[in-house]
Amino acid sequence: MQRIVVKNPIVEMDGDEMARVIWGLIKEKLIVPFLDIKLDYYDLGIKNRDQTEDSITVEAAKAIQSHGVGVKCATITPDAQRVTEYGLKKAWASPNATIRSILDGTVFRKPIMVKNIRPAVRSWKKPIIIGRHAYGDIYRAVELQVQEPGKVELVYSTSQGEKERILLNEFRTPGVVMGMYNLEKSIRSFARSCINYALGEKVDLWFSMKDTISKTYHGCFKNIFEEEVSARQNEFHQIGIEYRYLLIDDAAAQMMKKDGNVLWALSNYDGDVFSDVVAAGFGSLGMMSSVLVSPDGKYEFEAAHGTVRRHYYEHLKGNPTSTNSVASIFAWSGAIRKRGELDGSRTVTLFAELLERATLGCVEDAIVTKDLVPLIRPRPKAFKSTEGFIEAVAERLIVLLGSNQTLWNSKG
Ligand code: NAP
Ligand code: MG
Repeated sequence: MQRIVVKNPIVEMDGDEMARVIWGLIKEKLIVPFLDIKLDYYDLGIKNRDQTEDSITVEAAKAIQSHGVGVKCATITPDAQRVTEYGLKKAWASPNATIRSILDGTVFRKPIMVKNIRPAVRSWKKPIIIGRHAYGDIYRAVELQVQEPGKVELVYSTSQGEKERILLNEFRTPGVVMGMYNLEKSIRSFARSCINYALGEKVDLWFSMKDTISKTYHGCFKNIFEEEVSARQNEFHQIGIEYRYLLIDDAAAQMMKKDGNVLWALSNYDGDVFSDVVAAGFGSLGMMSSVLVSPDGKYEFEAAHGTVRRHYYEHLKGNPTSTNSVASIFAWSGAIRKRGELDGSRTVTLFAELLERATLGCVEDAIVTKDLVPLIRPRPKAFKSTEGFIEAVAERLIVLLGSNQTLWNSKG
């Protein structure tokens, strides 16, 4: 079969454990045989990050900045136990956090929906995408335990001296204190990434905070969003999507009645909580895709799950595994589609579409990995191995490609 030529490169970031095993299979069976593509490869596996003192992660992020599109396999974020397990020099930072801070991006998580898995919430018919602000708030807060009676104040001093002093609390009994902050620049980038995503995907944008209570802190987020949205009001009208600001509790309640097709932009903590609520509501971590979008329009695609450690240990023992590769396949198809859009190549975007169709076709015909068995209706009698599922997708893809003559007749 003639391979489809992809004009510009995609940055490929390899990863760890079972996710790395799946990665290799997807590339070998679903990508390389069909696409003539230059993959700018970075091995973000834990051993290589350790060997390069993590400079490889920074290089990969810079490559995404220059090529515009990347696809990343799940990686280990080492803790003390992983340092011992892999004999590491130190517990290197999370590669995702490093890449996110270099690209100044926002992560959007989107469920991959199929006809035979019904979300836990009956009204959810289309995806609810979560955009989580990933800077500051309680994740960069300072905290204090108060043991004896005393006064705690917030003091703001500039280089010229003290400017403001606010009493937080006059403690008479023990208690706790937390001080947190955020930056206007980061909130603005977040708003811009959310707007880019909503316009690109043609979905409504909801943003929610609690500005009735936190008039200054949450109010600042609300105002920045409103400024950024009003600067692009024309595009919202043109595309036919709407922006709504709702109080967080109101939004949470309304989300249960909505049919989906919405990007829900959330502050760091709310996003942490609701991304897990929504993921669980849609079914499985193996069916959740994720994309990092920078305010200047660079994209990094990945699966939302981790390296699936337990399955990897089984794999190392030589036992068969049944790990779901749908989200990793969608990371690839997402990157390929975006590459095609940026290069203006209809054949490349069509390939991405057919790869997704082949994958969803398998799941909808109950050809699935073990994790999906309890979720599928009617319940399948058997399940595929890790390799078996990817092979089934490859077979369908070949058929779909063969029957799409436009792919081979067009020039780009
Ligand atoms: P995980 O990889 O997300 O897996 C947790 C459990 O969820 C698995 O044991 C499995 O359940 C189920 N699961 C997740 N993905 C699945 C899939 N594709 N197919 C089938 N089942 C799936 O989390 P973890 O094992 O706790 O974390 C392992 C490593 O991943 C950690 O070192 C963490 O740092 C890293 N991590 C990386 C990323 C990233 O790079 N984006 C994100 C999260 C975590 P059963 O065991 O019940 O089958
Ligand atoms: Mg969470």
